[in-house]
Amino acid sequence: MSNSSVSVAPTGFARFGLNDALLRGIRAAGFENPRPIQVETIPACLDGRNVLGLAQTGTGKTAAFALPLLHRLLKGGAKGPRALILAPTRELATQIAAEMQALARFTRLKVVTIYGGTSMRRQADELRRNPAVVVGCPGRVLDLLQQRVLRLGAVETLVLDEADHMFDMGFLPDIRKILKGLPTSRQNLLFSATMPKEIRHLANDLLTDPHVAELIDRAPASTIDHALVLVAETRKRALLEHVLTGGDCDSAIVFTRTKYRAKRLAEQLTRAGHRAVGLQGNMSQGQRDRAMSGFRTRRYDILVATDIAARGIDVSNVAYVINFDVPSTPEAYTHRIGRTGRAEREGVACTFVTGRDHGWLRATERMIGTPIPRRQVEGFEAEPEKPEARKASRGKGRGGPQRQSRPQSNGRGRGRRRSG
Ligand code: AMP
Repeated sequence: MSNSSVSVAPTGFARFGLNDALLRGIRAAGFENPRPIQVETIPACLDGRNVLGLAQTGTGKTAAFALPLLHRLLKGGAKGPRALILAPTRELATQIAAEMQALARFTRLKVVTIYGGTSMRRQADELRRNPAVVVGCPGRVLDLLQQRVLRLGAVETLVLDEADHMFDMGFLPDIRKILKGLPTSRQNLLFSATMPKEIRHLANDLLTDPHVAELIDRAPASTIDHALVLVAETRKRALLEHVLTGGDCDSAIVFTRTKYRAKRLAEQLTRAGHRAVGLQGNMSQGQRDRAMSGFRTRRYDILVATDIAARGIDVSNVAYVINFDVPSTPEAYTHRIGRTGRAEREGVACTFVTGRDHGWLRATERMIGTPIPRRQVEGFEAEPEKPEARKASRGKGRGGPQRQSRPQSNGRGRGRRRSG
């Protein structure tokens, strides 16, 4: 380091050469330094390249695509939506739009959200006000496109966010139809936490010479203190009460396997005097919005959710994530517990595991590459561990992944779990 005519390289967000109005937005949002996904992705997006981002929600990927996209829009161009962002759930679409609006607050760029379950007419009115960016869920976007209320002829950038989840939810045919309504010459950005083969095909079709930013953290963030508690199914409710009331748990997301279980558990917790609310796919959009905003504003301390409903939600300050039921796939474990310990805050994640969940446990520990610590809770000693199929493995399962002669899940686990 002997150079005396020092030319200091810009640091923080200044390194990207973003528009000043966006830099103001970034400062107002409280972002000081770019996250790894942003460092990886922003320069390639600014260059107009196609990008495949392998990253989960919670890593900062919204700003990773939003900032370069907004920067490019600020350079001026045709009328009509110039960027289309597709997301699997209404909650995620709303969150993306909110973050974009925050980053673009010192610009005149308009962002509109489009999703089912709410008034189509209002969305049509908003579209007439000439937004630069449309963020939507595929079903409603396709409806409005087919009714010619939404015109996508000026779209320069397409973003597919949580593409794997859109596939899980059966949106791929709608997406393919929407693609037909877009100009062929455009930038494509595809974000996905996992790459099932259908998404690989889609990525191959869409992304010519992509820049690949791979930031999948299969291991949980270091800010999350996570543990398993072995418990009998019949004792889960009592254990939950113990965890919720026993310490520093002032806010929690509790995950259940089914919509029915989420609904019932939220009701039981409410009857037991907790400020709890459910979030599951059978609720109307209004109910879901009220549940989310009630949880964000601390009217409720406990959100009882299914995976689909909770996907992508970003609530800071969630002290605990409690997996009342284990998730259906190993990947969903990292995803669920990533709802706590966000934005580099400390969080606690606790997973209730019954004797039936050992297949899931083995696959999950294999995926994250390390055993999940076991925690004993007094009075909740586990039922004898009963691996599903083979007596030979009795007593195993503590202290790390165990090799079994039984065929293992392939680690993706998609649709494979049968025993829980
Ligand atoms: P996302 O993965 O886009 O859902 O982002 C997760 C959270 O991180 C959101 O609350 C963002 O506002 C926040 N965030 C994104 N980028 C940064 C950054 N560079 N510094 C601080 N917070 C950020």
